[in-house]
Amino acid sequence: MDFKEKVVLITGGSRGIGKSIAEDFRNEGANVIITYKNSVNAEHFDSLGILHRMCDVADMKSVNSLVEEINKQFGKIDILINNAGITKDGLLMRMSEEDWDLVIDTNLKGVFNFIKAVSRPMMGKRYGKIVNITSISGIIGNAGQANYSASKAGVIGLTKSVAKELASRNINVNAVAPGFIETEMTDKLSDDVKQNYLSNIPLKRFATPGEVSALVKFLSSDNASYITGQTICIDGGLVM
Ligand code: NAP
Repeated sequence: MDFKEKVVLITGGSRGIGKSIAEDFRNEGANVIITYKNSVNAEHFDSLGILHRMCDVADMKSVNSLVEEINKQFGKIDILINNAGITKDGLLMRMSEEDWDLVIDTNLKGVFNFIKAVSRPMMGKRYGKIVNITSISGIIGNAGQANYSASKAGVIGLTKSVAKELASRNINVNAVAPGFIETEMTDKLSDDVKQNYLSNIPLKRFATPGEVSALVKFLSSDNASYITGQTICIDGGLVM
């Protein structure tokens, strides 16, 4: 896979899965830009030559101005990875409207915002790869995650529709649905919950961010040029 001349934009790249994806693309020689919402270890990313910008994915204005800035600097965006995501878990009966809105705005509207912003320049270049990070929760649901599951199921539908709209312009749009990956997002789950997941995973282990990143890189490469509109699970066999 050759990413040397490629410009790759990764949302939520400051930690977890997004950080691993950013570092992997950078190792392959790509120009990499990450976004975050709250904080970033600037020194770390500066030392790797990865650009970092504060940009709330839910804020269309900030998204448009960031995409404009990148297009001005590099003349294109080849690959967009919509990775930023949050959880605000709780049973439906106790879920606040605020927690519903925050998760939908970040996980679903954020993906819409970035796809909308990059698709026009990508269409002009007749080249683009978009990978949206969804979740197996969006496929099988999960008690306590009505907001999160709805947002991630929305991402799968969005992926399919946009894949159909952009296919004629040589733009591939796919989704990756991780199961249980070792990051800060899953660190906060109790040991009981983790044990319960583990007992249902055929491969009997959780994944590393690097394993997700390898799949994202494949879908972003020209080796995957005949794949579009798909949702690929990476979950140790949990959903099959
Ligand atoms: P994480 O460690 O919690 O990192 C989340 C990243 O998203 C951070 O860089 C964070 O930036 C950024 N972010 C959050 N809200 C944002 C916003 N409004 N605007 C811009 N950036 C924002 O998460 P992760 O575990 O790596 O998960 C990455 C993706 O994989 C998410 O979409 C998640 O739903 C999905 N996923 C994860 C798992 C898992 O097991 N970990 C499983 C299935 C799916 P700040 O640090 O500045 O907040």
